[in-house]
Amino acid sequence: MIVVVGAGAAGLVAAIFARAGGEDVLLLERTTDGGRKILISGGGRCNILPSSLQPERFVTDSPAHLMRGMLRSWPLAAQRTFFEEEVGIPLALEAETGKLFPASDRARDVRDGLLTLAGSRGVQFRNQTTVTALSVAPKSSVEGRRTWTLKTTRGDIEASAVIMATGGLSVPLTGSDGIGLNIAKQLGHEVHPTYPALTPLTGSTPMLASLSGISLDVRIRAKWQGHTTESHGGFLFTHRGYSGPSVLDVSHVAVRSRSDTPAVFRVAWTDRDAETWTRELSATTGFITNLISRHLPERLTEVLCLEAGLPPDRRGPELRRSERTALVEALTAYQLPWSSDEGYKKAEVTGGGVALTDVNPRTLESTRQPGLFLCGEMLDAFGPIGGYNFAWAWATGRAAGLGAST
Ligand SMILES: Cc1cc2nc3c(=O)[nH]c(=O)nc-3n(C[C@H](O)[C@H](O)[C@H](O)COP(=O)(O)OP(=O)(O)OC[C@H]3O[C@@H](n4cnc5c(N)ncnc54)[C@H](O)[C@@H]3O)c2cc1C
Repeated sequence: MIVVVGAGAAGLVAAIFARAGGEDVLLLERTTDGGRKILISGGGRCNILPSSLQPERFVTDSPAHLMRGMLRSWPLAAQRTFFEEEVGIPLALEAETGKLFPASDRARDVRDGLLTLAGSRGVQFRNQTTVTALSVAPKSSVEGRRTWTLKTTRGDIEASAVIMATGGLSVPLTGSDGIGLNIAKQLGHEVHPTYPALTPLTGSTPMLASLSGISLDVRIRAKWQGHTTESHGGFLFTHRGYSGPSVLDVSHVAVRSRSDTPAVFRVAWTDRDAETWTRELSATTGFITNLISRHLPERLTEVLCLEAGLPPDRRGPELRRSERTALVEALTAYQLPWSSDEGYKKAEVTGGGVALTDVNPRTLESTRQPGLFLCGEMLDAFGPIGGYNFAWAWATGRAAGLGAST
């Protein structure tokens, strides 16, 4: 029997594909139902896939080619066909973001659809069962494989192969608290240091906090240890700091820099460059705030002008060169004050995890423990906002399921 641990995105798909060889498959899940991250994903709509994979946007401390190979092992078009034709969920493209959602806009359809498909393929479920330890008998065998024993809160279970799909540490209320990573470590795997990723940043000034609720499209450059990471897209001022896809996509740089020299974030609030702003600011005869607020929310315009040291009634011809320089910098390379992040409580994913060098890149079988397969967020890779993390979970879940079934 193949036992899958964790009925999240990766575990559900792994269980479905593990049935390919006809062996019994048992899916163990600690919560009452499983798939809770799917339910809360995409604001309850589930951004199930991106419209292009963009492996170069993924982050890993393992060799990047291993991550790329695993991600591409299930081409996007085939993933889409699986959901539309086998799970039975029509998908719709959100043209402005390139994200795919179920046409119903209901995350529950995705979670329930996967549970139903797994059930119809013969997967057995045992919920409210937490796996606390995993051991293997070195010499015994079931059908030529080693025998695994899973210690659970509802008794021991034996298996011929085990697929670990227990996720990372993000949003522990959904069931993932890192037990699986500890078990992997105990079994001799290298686990790269974990950290919250895709999490909001905190620590704005009172003036910026007064902008809470304002959102706009921006471009962010995060600089740390000589490297620059860029993001663009939605930016949201919150009471405590900043959120939105552009912030979440670079938040890991802030998180990782906290124990070192803090990363510097510079924001371009519009897509106009410094030269364009300089030219227009020099040419205008009206109020500076009127010119800027044609491109930016009015309240943000006021704050940026104040921070650049400009009185609100400054007109173009009165603008001093030093004021113009400060204003252009505030508009195109604003240094975002930040102090911390919202951590795992709000992180959409966990960075770090089981080193990709510790699994066979095709089957995801552990190179340290034959008969053990690892997939999903517990592996050392994550992607940006946009359906990329489900793409990773589905692709690695399928590879592990097929790997265990042969
Ligand atoms: C708020 C939020 C919104 C998101 N939105 C999106 C989105 O729209 N698009 C996207 O691509 N990604 C999104 N993500 C990320 C995505 O949800 C994850 O990347 C994905 O769910 C990871 O899948 P997984 O199966 O590896 O882990 P998980 O989904 O975390 O599943 C792990 C499962 O294992 C179970 N488990 C853990 N330990 C044990 C144990 N010891 N014994 C038994 N069971 C155990 C857990 O209960 C859980 O069910 C979002 C994440 C969050 C938090």
